[in-house]
Amino acid sequence: MQDYSLKYLIEYIEDLPQIAKKSLQGIKPVFKKIKKKKPKDLDTFVHNLHEEYFQEVDCLTCGNCCRSLGPRITDRDIDRLAKHLRIKPSAFVEKYLQIDEDKDYVFKSMPCPFLDDDNYCLVYEHRPKACREYPHTDRPKFVQILDLSLKNCETCPVVFKICEDISRKYS
Ligand code: SF4
Ligand code: SF4
Repeated sequence: MQDYSLKYLIEYIEDLPQIAKKSLQGIKPVFKKIKKKKPKDLDTFVHNLHEEYFQEVDCLTCGNCCRSLGPRITDRDIDRLAKHLRIKPSAFVEKYLQIDEDKDYVFKSMPCPFLDDDNYCLVYEHRPKACREYPHTDRPKFVQILDLSLKNCETCPVVFKICEDISRKYS
């Protein structure tokens, strides 16, 4: 598999879905094995890569998740954001949210209404929990989110690089 740099993937982010799809053909069978074997060192391996890649990547140069993924927005997120914006929670829902096919609140449209032109989040301190946790590569029990991470390969270059590295190590 061709080794793309993070810099390249961010510069040509619109090509990431296509690049990822190609690579996923090789990654998926390895992930299937990992799901069965549950290697004990998987979390340490992934967390080290997370540290390494996020030292290299400044999300402000990318912003692809905030442009293309609709985070799930909880009632607590709504209360916190509404308070910050000094509007009622019902007004926040009315103005910004819709219910998706899983019956979760998500933004009415993407890119996110709180993403500015320089990829800054205008509500950063108050952003939804899902935004804080994305792309989940520093969470424990990574084995539980292998399928989600395969999906995220098409959005986040860091997840893509980590999945490729996992695939190389455990193949
Ligand atoms: S709330 Fe902020 S972090 Fe979350 S999607 Fe919008 S811009 Fe991105
Ligand atoms: S988390 Fe991933 S997709 Fe989101 S801005 Fe950072 S590198 Fe880009």
